Amino acid sequence: MQHISIVNARQNNLKNISLSLPKNRITVFTGVSGSGKSSLVFETIGAEAQRQLNETYDSFVRHRLQHYGQPDVDKIEHLNVAIVINQKRIGGNARSTVGTATDTFSLLRLLFSRAGEPFAGYANAFSFNNPAGMCPNCEGLGKVNTINLNKLIDRRKSLNEGAINFPTFQPGSYRWARYTLSGYFDNDKKLRDYSPEEWELLLNAPEHKPPHPLPGWGKTQQYEGVITRITRTFLKRESKTFNRNSEEVYEVIRLDDCPVCHGARLNQQVLASGIKGKNIADCAAMQINELEKFLEQIKTKQVQTIVAELIKRLRHLIDIGLSYLSLDRTTSTLSGGESQRIKMVKHLGSSLTGLIYIFDEPSTGLHPADVQRLNRQMEQLRDKGNTILIVEHDPDIIAIADHVVDMGPKAGVHGGEIVYEGTFNGLKRSKGLTGAYFRQQHTLNEQPRTASGHLTISNATLHNVKNVTLRIPEGVLNVITGVAGSGKSTLINQVLPEQHPSATLIDQSPLRGSRRAHIASYTGVFDEIRSLFAKTNKTSAGIFSANSEGACPECKGLGIITLDLAFMDSVEETCDACNGSGYNGEALRYKWHKKNIAEVLAMTVEEAITFFEGYALKDILQKVARLGLGYISLGQSLNTFSGGERQRLKLAAELEEEGRLFIFDEPTTGLHPSDTAQLMTIFQEMVDKGNTVIIIEHNVEVISQADWVIDIGPGAGNKGGKVVFEGTLKDMVKAKDSVTGKYLREYYS
Ligand code: ADP
Ligand code: ADP
Ligand code: ZN
Ligand code: ZN
Repeated sequence: MQHISIVNARQNNLKNISLSLPKNRITVFTGVSGSGKSSLVFETIGAEAQRQLNETYDSFVRHRLQHYGQPDVDKIEHLNVAIVINQKRIGGNARSTVGTATDTFSLLRLLFSRAGEPFAGYANAFSFNNPAGMCPNCEGLGKVNTINLNKLIDRRKSLNEGAINFPTFQPGSYRWARYTLSGYFDNDKKLRDYSPEEWELLLNAPEHKPPHPLPGWGKTQQYEGVITRITRTFLKRESKTFNRNSEEVYEVIRLDDCPVCHGARLNQQVLASGIKGKNIADCAAMQINELEKFLEQIKTKQVQTIVAELIKRLRHLIDIGLSYLSLDRTTSTLSGGESQRIKMVKHLGSSLTGLIYIFDEPSTGLHPADVQRLNRQMEQLRDKGNTILIVEHDPDIIAIADHVVDMGPKAGVHGGEIVYEGTFNGLKRSKGLTGAYFRQQHTLNEQPRTASGHLTISNATLHNVKNVTLRIPEGVLNVITGVAGSGKSTLINQVLPEQHPSATLIDQSPLRGSRRAHIASYTGVFDEIRSLFAKTNKTSAGIFSANSEGACPECKGLGIITLDLAFMDSVEETCDACNGSGYNGEALRYKWHKKNIAEVLAMTVEEAITFFEGYALKDILQKVARLGLGYISLGQSLNTFSGGERQRLKLAAELEEEGRLFIFDEPTTGLHPSDTAQLMTIFQEMVDKGNTVIIIEHNVEVISQADWVIDIGPGAGNKGGKVVFEGTLKDMVKAKDSVTGKYLREYYS
């Protein structure tokens, strides 16, 4: 059998490891977070494949690329071209949809240009990205910004009491005076008592000079209704002002379907062309599984090849667990796991062989029932003659491995070694945390807590959730389950916080802060570190900031230099002047306990806990370490954090809270089962402190500790959106309709 051989890999924490991976097989990399899986798979193997590919470019480009991603390894042999399929969201552009990202919409266009009646011309006319096809009102976006009047106007208040709820229209401001000095209104009258004429004047009057303004009104000043005014400045599609004020403006602005095309993005002429009574927008709005059924009815001879190709691609989407999406769904609204599966589809359809596919935790967002179908897809990709490398914690995916590489034994400096290499069966008998996990006994929570009260979600209606009313027990650990696309996030992440604004959602979205932000600055310990340095060295604390006085002049404190290549992705390289620390020479001269500021920032959280023994900042760092982040260095930039790491860092700030409501969306993403156990201890402590915790999860280890389970389903998309089960685990195992209940039964039998 052919092998890829890796000799003496030392990237990040890897301890000079050598290994060989069988080609045309599935290899799964396991190990606790921070053990070195990504350092090996992405930063060594993936990066070297990319570098070797770059060698094939012409000398100009090659020259620019030569610093890029050169991994720290003696050699890697027999490497093929590698394709990395990660969870980065697909472009945030409003014009990118599931249909455009999977190349299925272009086939649909082709189909309508050939078989649509009446006949409409070129395939391009069916494109919402083309002026010939786009709706003229929304320019092909399908959405327009409108003002949410209920948020903008508080009818219970008068103008003097601040009835206009917009940042620059507050009482006392000159924009507010435009209404109070206009002479049109009684400024103490509540808005709910306004006559229709007054409403019209207040909201919609066009720009004009009021006939009887009060003293103080400027000679040339014009009057204008609130909506007219806001529309003019803030609603011009994607205008710069809109972005600058985003936070406040988004409060009162709603994205609505375009009233002309009703979200279809296309113009009337194009929409008049149909097949079997459906136009192209109707087809793009159908769920993928329904669209597939519709296409099967098209028997027109001239378009059979197009129809067959379309059906083939739609089946790939269905097989990968995305049957509930529609082709017109904007890609920016997809979750990380959904984005990764969309990217996968392109490759499933491809007939290329001899490639290496690298996946980063493909189980993210998938219910155990969906994982089985994903596994079949991975196996097919392998059987076509490709090599599959997967970083994964999900036992059901680890189980399909032809070959397992278990990294460890622990994280950071305590990891970077190969603990086990071989078959899946061998893994189950191996030393190390992963092997131990597979031998562990699983138990269900037999003594659920009782609720201290209830919070209600009433008449929730959004996406596939229709008029659902639900009572969630307070003071307990709630777990929300259900297959991907069943409506869990819709109900819990979107509707619940709207009805209960005190809820704190802790998800994987980016953290606040600049490009120079790191764990030390995010948690606040950096302030104390800087003042320790300043006191000892009798200088200002500012010199120890890489974004002010201490900044390296070459890279402005970033530690990296970004090269913009006009025709390719930009490339980042370490700044030579400061060796990547971001600090200038003066800052680096000062020491505290024999270390300079850059050396302190290079310490892991764990190392820093020992180093700062006896100082207040140690307690904060200990919280971070308890959340499984002890292996991360203080200075590692927050924008290199994975979604799971970001989520746990946000949680670190909330550990002391009492009596609050917390929502977590898949908190175990990126966690090894042994880390999951530690995180669960923290959730249990939070509940013991009187908090209500709601977790969206498909991880059985999490579900099995729930006090109360709510299962959403039964299926995905329009087959879901209902509460299938609510109750304790003991009852769930008996529940007939619940897919999750069935899975739990199998797991604990
Ligand atoms: P895993 O994928 O197993 O979670 P990683 O390979 O991401 O682990 O991390 C292994 C170790 O290398 C950790 O201690 C991590 O903090 C460190 N590390 C990862 N990326 C970098 C980086 N860009 N610079 C320095 N250290 C890093
Ligand atoms: P889950 O969290 O259970 O995976 P979601 O709540 O994300 O499920 O999705 C439920 C349904 O709502 C799916 O059919 C999905 O396609 C749809 N949906 C989710 N988000 C959006 C959105 N932003 N726009 C349109 N439809 C959406
Ligand atoms: Zn439109
Ligand atoms: Zn520099």
